[in-house]
Amino acid sequence: DSKTNEPEEVTRTVCTYCGVGCNLDVATASGEILSITAPYDAEVNQGHTCLKGRYAFKFYDHPERLRSPMVRKNGVLENVSWDEAYSYIVDRITNIREEHGPDSIAGISSARCTNEENYLMQKFIRAVVGTNNIDCCARVCHSPTALGMQRSFGTGAATNSVIDIKYTDCMMVIGANPTAAHPVTGAKMKQAAMKGTKLIVIDPREIELAKYADHFLQLRPGTNVALLNMMLYYIIDEGLADLAFIENRTEGYDDFVANIKKLDINAMEAITGVNREEVRAAAITYASAPNAMSFHGLGVTEHSQGTFTVQQIADLAMITGNIGRRGVGVNPLRGQNNVQGAADMGAQPHQGAGYMDVTKPEMNRLYMDFYKTDKIPSHIGYKIPEMFDAAIAGDLKVMWIIGEDVVQTDPNTNKVKKALTSLDLFIVQELFMTETAMLADVVLPGASFLEKSGTFTNGERRVQRVNKVVEPIPGTKADGQIIVDVMQRMGYDQADYAPDTMLEEISQIVPFFKGITWEELAKNGKQWPVPEDGSSTEIIHIDSFKRGKGLFTYFDWRESEEIVEHGAEYPYIITTNRELEHYNCGAMTRRTGNGEILKEDVLLINAKDAADNGIADGDMVCVTSARGKVDIKARITAEVKPGVMSTTFHFPEIMVNLITSDVHDSEAKCPEYKVVAVKIRKSKGV
Ligand code: SF4
Repeated sequence: DSKTNEPEEVTRTVCTYCGVGCNLDVATASGEILSITAPYDAEVNQGHTCLKGRYAFKFYDHPERLRSPMVRKNGVLENVSWDEAYSYIVDRITNIREEHGPDSIAGISSARCTNEENYLMQKFIRAVVGTNNIDCCARVCHSPTALGMQRSFGTGAATNSVIDIKYTDCMMVIGANPTAAHPVTGAKMKQAAMKGTKLIVIDPREIELAKYADHFLQLRPGTNVALLNMMLYYIIDEGLADLAFIENRTEGYDDFVANIKKLDINAMEAITGVNREEVRAAAITYASAPNAMSFHGLGVTEHSQGTFTVQQIADLAMITGNIGRRGVGVNPLRGQNNVQGAADMGAQPHQGAGYMDVTKPEMNRLYMDFYKTDKIPSHIGYKIPEMFDAAIAGDLKVMWIIGEDVVQTDPNTNKVKKALTSLDLFIVQELFMTETAMLADVVLPGASFLEKSGTFTNGERRVQRVNKVVEPIPGTKADGQIIVDVMQRMGYDQADYAPDTMLEEISQIVPFFKGITWEELAKNGKQWPVPEDGSSTEIIHIDSFKRGKGLFTYFDWRESEEIVEHGAEYPYIITTNRELEHYNCGAMTRRTGNGEILKEDVLLINAKDAADNGIADGDMVCVTSARGKVDIKARITAEVKPGVMSTTFHFPEIMVNLITSDVHDSEAKCPEYKVVAVKIRKSKGV
């Protein structure tokens, strides 16, 4: 077995899965990957990976990898040459743009791809096609974080670094399950809690960290705003506000405090389902710790009030002066390996590379001069959910999606399918024949992280080098090269894909990449902002916020539209989650052996709800929402309270997103995956 050979070479690269950004040493012999180990000298993971990262090489040469471009002919996807696929794409895009204008075309870039590839994709859409219709999966995960933190602080990124867990006195984890979704960071939290660091967990599910928590607040899904208002109320009520910090560093406090004082605590207690004394105790722990950090995940953002909740978490940090030093701050746990980078590189419809507003004439001009084009419009493009609406309405004719299985992972699957099948041209760049790729007119086989070089930016703003371990498997190409090939064929003067020169170009337009060079990223990367002197930044907002003063904003809690509209007919709430073994749609982890460890999505259900509906452990349950129904196996557990259920969406066999709602965050348009009104019954005849 060649897999037991001694390694000839070891290449250091970065994990393709979550936003922790673990460094991996990949051993090869005769061009074959033997193993992955975790380097001890890597600052991010110090000799540790999780189950996903350890086996992250097993999918790359899987027999099901796409190995040829395909074009749909007479309804069937057929293998074609790269030249034929490119000619087809260029002709169709050119014709459709002439007939319907550039805004009839849209792209979804990939948080799995490198910074350089994301930069290129948004450049292609803006400078070559001539539209701002570019977005990425941040829309369906942390877009409320980016917007909320930009509003409160001026920068939509983590204020501190994961290493700060070592120095903090209190961790507040809200709407995140780090031991499953960010396991290396989760392990650090667990160790810190065991050594005495205070831990507050706020979640509708009794996640693993809850067992180590000093305070576990198990709230009803969709009530984060009410619960955080209660915490803010008690901090003020107990005289724990840091008035000096508030005076020197913030604005908007007087109005904010006046609103908080008017809160009806009885009502909030009933809404959240959490005893007020438990909330008071947690608030006192957070506010009286010398240094307190918060961590949040998709249980904060994937709500109709997601952006507001992020701003409240910022309010909590500011009211207690927990900003600008070691062991404090607001720290979103980013989901995808490079979702921070995709947004940094401008894969979003309102801001280009470096977060400059494309609607501001001077910024728009700056981009156009830099890209040597006059094509970039000054209006905001479509966000992902708006793309689907526009496709159904007939206004959007072309979509090009890189590395995102929107059919399996975006909410309301039937609506997504309807949108994609309404397009005149649908291009998918992928590793495997996903549920989304099956609907494409053109499929382009991309390369995995092991087959290309570039950079990923992790959740603590750390730009790290991804180094090619093996050549792209025959028939595939690095995603950046595919984009460049099309740019060149559409007449744009774009140099071939090379990560060092791309990074140099990026450093000329993205202000916080100014001092970044390919060579100097070699060991442990650098945390942006990286000024001209090349220094790395572990903590931001030390003396002042990017926006000057930090902004306090008060928000009233509002019941989710999903519950208001459908709660009477569908009395239970499902919230979605992740399991350790799998990553998102599972296209990679189901092909690494992890699929043998965890083989299916299951419905977590409380014993009372199960008994009320005649359901036993292991029974198939028919779960119906206003959008559709799925049959899924019940697992009876005390992890969820009566009235609340939970499940994953790692497997296409179940297609949990058939039932999720297309209610979105009112500000950032992030879908509300976390509150789905359903009714249940034992499945018939299963
Ligand atoms: Fe690290 Fe996340 Fe990869 Fe696990 S999935 S090895 S925690 S980067």
